[in-house]
Amino acid sequence: MSLPTPGNPSFPAGESSASAAVRCVHCGLCLPVCPSYRAFGTESRSPRGLLMLIRSFHESGLPIGNAYKDRIASCLLCKACGAACPSGLHPDEIVLAGRAESAASGLPFAKRFLFRLLADRPRLEAVLRLGARFQGLFLASSRPGKGPAPCTNGLRRPRFPWRPWLLHPARMLPGLAPVTLYRIAAASRRPSSIPTPVARVAYFPGCMTEFIYPGQGLAVIDLLEAHRVEVVLSRDFQCCGTPVLAHGDPATASLLAARNQEVMDRLFTSGVEAVVTGCASCAGTLKGYPALEGGRVYDAAEFLVEAIGLRSPRRECSGRVAYHDPCHALHGQGVSRSARRLLAAAGFEPVEPPRPGSCCGGAGSFSLAHPEPYLTLNDTRIDDLASTGAVTAASACPSCVMHLADGAARRGLGMAIRHPVELAAEAYRKN
Ligand code: SF4
Ligand code: SF4
Repeated sequence: MSLPTPGNPSFPAGESSASAAVRCVHCGLCLPVCPSYRAFGTESRSPRGLLMLIRSFHESGLPIGNAYKDRIASCLLCKACGAACPSGLHPDEIVLAGRAESAASGLPFAKRFLFRLLADRPRLEAVLRLGARFQGLFLASSRPGKGPAPCTNGLRRPRFPWRPWLLHPARMLPGLAPVTLYRIAAASRRPSSIPTPVARVAYFPGCMTEFIYPGQGLAVIDLLEAHRVEVVLSRDFQCCGTPVLAHGDPATASLLAARNQEVMDRLFTSGVEAVVTGCASCAGTLKGYPALEGGRVYDAAEFLVEAIGLRSPRRECSGRVAYHDPCHALHGQGVSRSARRLLAAAGFEPVEPPRPGSCCGGAGSFSLAHPEPYLTLNDTRIDDLASTGAVTAASACPSCVMHLADGAARRGLGMAIRHPVELAAEAYRKN
């Protein structure tokens, strides 16, 4: 099977995971940066070990077994190894190809159901509307008892921890937003019309922002408009494809990419100059779509800082903010400065936690499938952030926000975890 990620510079089109893995020279420079190696402590779950495993497996001609699937499922797809590899390899993409090969004989029913739902937007919205209505059956309130509200960043404790199948008993989760971003935006007349705009962009919210963190989406729209950027919201956008690709379903990922690309091309033809998103994973995946005609994809802070330039805020905010780089922004796109500059322009003081570039441990469903390694990585990262002394931490990815918020709440740190656009929007909003 050819590799599923379009536009990947490290592989000639059609190269198999095994032939790409052959090019590893076993130098081991990728090991210290690998969260999977750190959490599991075994070579077979490191980038070098995974490449050797994929290569040996292909050479042996053995049928795909559960032990093999288990090893390649332990990669968090954080892309840190690709950034560290002197041979220009991207082990995460070889792992993705390996997952696609091992899923070729069929995905489990639950995944097939979920991915079919992701590719059927009207049905997805209907199911999540129902979920939002009845989620109280599964998620307890974040204010148990009558005491003062703990700082849980809006997370809630599951009523029934389903360990060992899904949820660790310590885990806390955000609920689904009662109203989706599109509906809130429509009710609050956003986006508004901008007289003499400096640019015209389409906003791609991504599933987490649309259904869980609509406040982050409103902050992106408000920030763009405060910079005199006209924003177009399209209901035709679908999931970017990251989760389906990660689970070895490149066919559905390609279908979603083709639909989104069609929407983007249409928007570009109608005068939209760029697509902006506040989700690091969506940005990484959208930027990898083959040949976007006539426009570009940006992370929200990247667009404000690099493409149009930051304006002075209406008011100055203050306070130290520990900044966590999302792996898909830092290692996947080389985007790291812009969120810090946005925070600084709003009056905040961005501070650096130790172990720069470390993963929060979330990685999509990794935290559900591997709860103990997740807790190890997540506890370490939240301790890094807390060691700065800042009472607020930020990360430009809704998934990182969710997982860091879980860590802060579980450890009772009272640390607020926010998306940088939410913090910065406070300084730029009219009221
Ligand atoms: S993508 Fe991340 S978790 Fe996966 S092998 Fe590379 S460094 Fe390790
Ligand atoms: S850094 Fe690259 S070449 Fe070196 S062991 Fe890791 S994947 Fe192989």
